[in-house]
This record gives sequence, C-alpha cells and structure tokens, in this order.
Amino acid sequence: MIRLICGNDLTQLGIKTCEGLNISAFLDHIDSCDKCSQSKESLIRDLNTLIGGER
Ligand SMILES: [Zn+2]
Repeated sequence: MIRLICGNDLTQLGIKTCEGLNISAFLDHIDSCDKCSQSKESLIRDLNTLIGGER
C-alpha cells in the first residue's frame, strides 16, 4: 500500500475506497499537499507499481 509522506490516511482523504483507489483524488492530493508534492515522483512510482500489480 502507498504511504503518504505527510502521514495522512488514504481512506480519510477519499483516495482509498471500497471500490479501489481513486487515482484522481490521489493526484489531486499530491498536487495540493506540500509534503507529498516534494516526493511526487516516488509516490507516482508507487501508484504505478500498485496498479500494475493489481488484477
Ligand atoms: Zn500529503
């Protein structure tokens, strides 16, 4: 699972839902979050790994 740099909870942010990951909410958060935007590349890499590994 992805861990946000800022320590916010994915479920609380509406990124992780019962239907899966809300990618646009994730990207929105990265753009709007000071801490996460600094680690944008690594977070997106994590996201891609997660999506790629999901079947
Ligand atoms: Zn954040």
